[in-house]
Amino acid sequence: MFDIKDLYQEIIVDHNRNPRNFRVIADADKTMEGFNPLCGDRLKLYLKIDGGNISDIAFDGTGCAISVASASLMTDAMKGKSIDEAETLFNNFHCLITTENEIDTDHLGKLAVLAGVKNFPARVKCASLCWHTLHSALIGDKNPVTTE
Ligand code: ZN
Repeated sequence: MFDIKDLYQEIIVDHNRNPRNFRVIADADKTMEGFNPLCGDRLKLYLKIDGGNISDIAFDGTGCAISVASASLMTDAMKGKSIDEAETLFNNFHCLITTENEIDTDHLGKLAVLAGVKNFPARVKCASLCWHTLHSALIGDKNPVTTE
């Protein structure tokens, strides 16, 4: 029997083993660091902004499988998005992993695989670290992000 949970697990394992966009962008327009002391996840995001769109996005750092898979999936989803679209996706993803209600996940694509973390409160910070880091980068925060 095909179990959708197996697929979700596979995507997370795959993105942890072979993270997409795991590199440094030397001439990035924006960089932002994020740290989740609860788990020890640490990442740095690199963004190229071109005409109000995210033309390139990458990350590096170290962290647990969920934090790395989340950053890998997020950077894949963000490439080519406008800053407004990125903020909308940030809000939708935040709902996905924190609310009890079932939300429409069609537009979230592969990001929906992370919905399961809402059953594991400690993991929510792992999955959301890269998103909060992106949000801070886009609004121009000066301070590194911490989940505490
Ligand atoms: Zn973690």
